[in-house]
Amino acid sequence: MLSGNDVMEFRNWLEWAGRYVILTHMGPDGDAIGSSLAMRHYLEGKGKQVVVIVPDSIPGFLEWLPGANDIKVFSDNPDACEELIYQADVICCLDFNVVKRIDKVASAFLFSKAKKFLLDHHPYPGNTFDVLLSHPEASSTSELVFHLICALGDYRKMDSEIAKCIYTGIMTDTGALSYKSNSSNLFMIISHLLDKGIDKDEIYRLVYHDYSESRLRLQGFVLCDKMQLFPDKSTALITLNDAELKRFNYNKGDTEGFVNMPLQIKGVLMSAFFREDAEAGIIKLSFRSVGDVPCNRFSSDFFNGGGHQNAAGGEFKGTMEQAVRIFIDGLEKWSESTEKCIGQLFVK
Ligand code: 5GP
Ligand code: MN
Repeated sequence: MLSGNDVMEFRNWLEWAGRYVILTHMGPDGDAIGSSLAMRHYLEGKGKQVVVIVPDSIPGFLEWLPGANDIKVFSDNPDACEELIYQADVICCLDFNVVKRIDKVASAFLFSKAKKFLLDHHPYPGNTFDVLLSHPEASSTSELVFHLICALGDYRKMDSEIAKCIYTGIMTDTGALSYKSNSSNLFMIISHLLDKGIDKDEIYRLVYHDYSESRLRLQGFVLCDKMQLFPDKSTALITLNDAELKRFNYNKGDTEGFVNMPLQIKGVLMSAFFREDAEAGIIKLSFRSVGDVPCNRFSSDFFNGGGHQNAAGGEFKGTMEQAVRIFIDGLEKWSESTEKCIGQLFVK
């Protein structure tokens, strides 16, 4: 998948560049952390000095990944992180397409004189990169790290730690190989990762069977009391406000995957999940859809958000009631669209 001048350019940097910073998006998921750590282990194996910086936090369900414990959190120590960003020879940007996604890290990134390398699978990458490898057709950025290592001729140098990080990213970005995962090539890659010694069943358990009791009870509450269906619009919406989250001792990451649950209902083609983030003073929006239905368009049309066709997000500044109003009005507006992909939502 990866070849040509851009890979050559990155290969040239590897000849002279000693200090690397790896950046990924705020609210990092399994692919963000998995791809960043895989890249870090790879570069360290080549004798480089590497540090991974995330804007805000590392979710608990990924703390077992090799190297997760010494990821630097920008918001914990902005000055030291900025210094690392300014001193870097190369900044590798993984799993995001535009600087808005790195939040408060953006200004240091933009001011840094380092060479800037993007490896990502989100559509519409920005233009702040010297080398840009953007492949929206890839399952995950972690898959792209695999391709990059191979394109650089280093498949033999890939060890089980790198393989573990890559598989975690592929697994979490494809819902454990249940979407965006129909390419036979992806299964070839997984087969290679197994050859490298990963235990994929254990990785599944570590990621998905790591719930607290209150998290599982929150899931029950959501399904029973908080999921609203709009059957004539093939759509579902879940909302959780701050008081509800507190009632279930909410910890960051506890609502991961909730947005996917309504898609298990026959006929539901688009699902939204709105979570109040009282600390940040926003409502965090997540959207998922099936097939041709472009939930990233719904997010950008009505909430200035974005993402992939079947997995998108955004932020809303205002009350939950206002967000829900805009959501319902948005569905009404869309119901007038003549576009086939959108029309699928509206039961005639
Ligand atoms: P999630 O629902 O997992 O937070 O996000 C799903 C996808 O939506 C992400 O991979 C990303 O592409 C996109 N996304 C999430 N939050 C935002 C946001 O605030 N703005 C934009 N433009 N895209 C987002
Ligand atoms: Mn990803």
